[in-house]
Amino acid sequence: MDELLNIDATEAARRVRAREASAEALTSLLLEHAQKTEPAVGAYLRLDIDGAIEQARAIDNAIGDGKDPGPLSGVPIAIKDNIHVKGQLTTCASKMLDGFNAPYDATVVERLRAAGAVIVGKTNLDEFAMGSSCENSALQQTHNPWDVTHVPGGSSGGSAACVAARSAFISLGSDTGGSIRLPGSFCGVIGYKPSYGRVSRYGLVAFASSLDQIGPFTRSVRDAALSLRVMAGRDVMDSTTPAREVPDYPALLGDSLKGKRVGVVRRYLDEMPNREVADAVGSAVTNLEKLGAEIVDVELPHAEYGIAVYYVVASAEASSNLSRFDGVRYGLRKEADNLLEMYKQTRGEGFGPEVKRRIMLGTYALSAGHYDEFYGRAGKVRTLIARDFEAAFEKCDLIAGPCAPFTAFKSGEKSDPLSMYLCDVYTIPASLAGLCAMSLPVGFDKAGLPIGMHLQAPPYADAELLSAAHALELTLKASVDRVPAIA
Ligand code: GLN
Repeated sequence: MDELLNIDATEAARRVRAREASAEALTSLLLEHAQKTEPAVGAYLRLDIDGAIEQARAIDNAIGDGKDPGPLSGVPIAIKDNIHVKGQLTTCASKMLDGFNAPYDATVVERLRAAGAVIVGKTNLDEFAMGSSCENSALQQTHNPWDVTHVPGGSSGGSAACVAARSAFISLGSDTGGSIRLPGSFCGVIGYKPSYGRVSRYGLVAFASSLDQIGPFTRSVRDAALSLRVMAGRDVMDSTTPAREVPDYPALLGDSLKGKRVGVVRRYLDEMPNREVADAVGSAVTNLEKLGAEIVDVELPHAEYGIAVYYVVASAEASSNLSRFDGVRYGLRKEADNLLEMYKQTRGEGFGPEVKRRIMLGTYALSAGHYDEFYGRAGKVRTLIARDFEAAFEKCDLIAGPCAPFTAFKSGEKSDPLSMYLCDVYTIPASLAGLCAMSLPVGFDKAGLPIGMHLQAPPYADAELLSAAHALELTLKASVDRVPAIA
């Protein structure tokens, strides 16, 4: 692999702006590399080779004319295929959206372009972002670049895998209950879920609207900070985005944790069956302490109900959001004698088994007579989980722990839905409480698979979270600075 593909996006953009490298050369190099890794990894559903070269040339021309295309000048970026890129298919890795072309760019895509990014392709996911391994994709299998017999994690598995395989500098994912952080952890890259409302979801196909956030996968914390700065902020097309100042995240990155308190739920580490994960995370906590942080014990007594609450809330919202796929407005349509039959045929054939399961669960939870018992009650427990975090954050500035109970598992290993749902045990509570959270690579297990640490901070404390992660990243460089053999 060319050295140029192993630098981070911040450095790549610097070189392009300084005319040390051209955007076109960088993009072509990356596309050639992707063509070598893709047969084994399968991260991309589609690469837009001609379009990417054209965008890169436009960046080079602008620079040639003395203009500055922005802080992501010439950086090749991949987009999860549930986020719209104008004129291209948005499949959500489902047969349901067969032939659907996005009529507009998602706000995040528009903002990345405005910062000089080159959009290179669309990545695989679990169908409609429902899953933890990418195996629910109706279109293709994605494999973990560190060991292709293992899953990349999900649902944003393609986006995590391409950044790990060096076939994208940055990619976008969406996180509803862990779909950025889990694959980030399994693929050894940074997966950042911004605070709820920090980044516009306009142009993201909605799964569970009270939880969905778009965020980046990157190879360095400063790239996460940079891409967040570019994408964050008010968007009139998404009413959950407040007109709140967007800090200069990259400028605020620090190298010390002096005066900071880091909360740890001891039980998570002590009781974790996978000792390799527990030990790697435990020693990263020691690094935080060496950086000057005071480690304090915190409790999240209601977090254990997170999975139960999530599968009621997320499924209920999904059943409502996915009702728009009816054979009339988007994608697939199966003709039949009457309207009802057409709906049934279309939805019956278009949706895969996991999506149907969620729609049924959610519809049941919302139905008259069961609403209070399920959706109403889940909402109350959700409030208790958020209050646990509020109480914990009185004692600390951020919370550190494991991102997942294990490293990437083998493809096909988890066949029952419940064991798949348990993958998100550590990531779901943060989603329910609207926190910002990330997975940061902290080591490898004996099999050479990456281990991720989960860092969480209060809503809108993104700058503090990124700064702490940056300090920790500096101390870990030597132990995590590896590239998968496949790259
Ligand atoms: N794995 C969880 C689910 O299947 C989370 C998915 C996500 O965050 N999009 O719903």
